Amino acid sequence: MQSNGIVFILSAPSGAGKTTICKLLKQKLPDLKFSISHTTRKPRDGEVEATDYYFISQKEFENKIQKGDFLEWAKVFDSFYGTGLETIEHHRNKGQNVLVELDVQGAKSLRMINYKAVFIFIMPPSLKELKSRLNKRATESVNSIQNRLEESKKEIQQSTQYDYILTNFDAEKTTNNLYSIITAEQFREKRYQPSSPDIRDLIDKKESN
Ligand code: 5GP
Repeated sequence: MQSNGIVFILSAPSGAGKTTICKLLKQKLPDLKFSISHTTRKPRDGEVEATDYYFISQKEFENKIQKGDFLEWAKVFDSFYGTGLETIEHHRNKGQNVLVELDVQGAKSLRMINYKAVFIFIMPPSLKELKSRLNKRATESVNSIQNRLEESKKEIQQSTQYDYILTNFDAEKTTNNLYSIITAEQFREKRYQPSSPDIRDLIDKKESN
């Protein structure tokens, strides 16, 4: 019997390096599925429709909420973001692991419904470093950078709710650590599937003792 795939929830304050880490992880784990969220935010330079996000209007977003298309949704920095339910469950049912990028509100709402997932938080080394990364990225206005920094502080305070915290000193090393977590989670006792009938029999017998 094939076991269900695992859903990995990844959150990080804006500028902590999550996008770079996800790009590196895609190369290391080509079989891992990445959930593509819907957002009402405008695409940034270089962002591609249906690769980075599904960029939709406010009206389309509201329709999707009405239809119950989202596993969760949240308003982050004046835009709406939502995770499509169907694709994740489709992958999970096929035994494929899925990585979902969410802000802390989204992760919190999943924990509240007791959604089965592994929650991972990417932490910046310091607030000073986070600020400098946001300034270097220069995709946002000064105002927006300040907003993101203030939001980051609140997000960092929620990090203790996660199963794993990875401090991102170096994207390559953090990706390796993330890779280790994803690999290790697959070998948890609860996910063990006996590879032969004799081993299954032995385990079943012990459980009925
Ligand atoms: P950005 O605008 O920088 O791409 O993303 C802003 C924030 O929205 C990030 O923290 C990102 O993880 C979060 N985000 C992206 N997709 C979703 C989603 O589907 N749901 C929620 N709750 N947050 C999301």
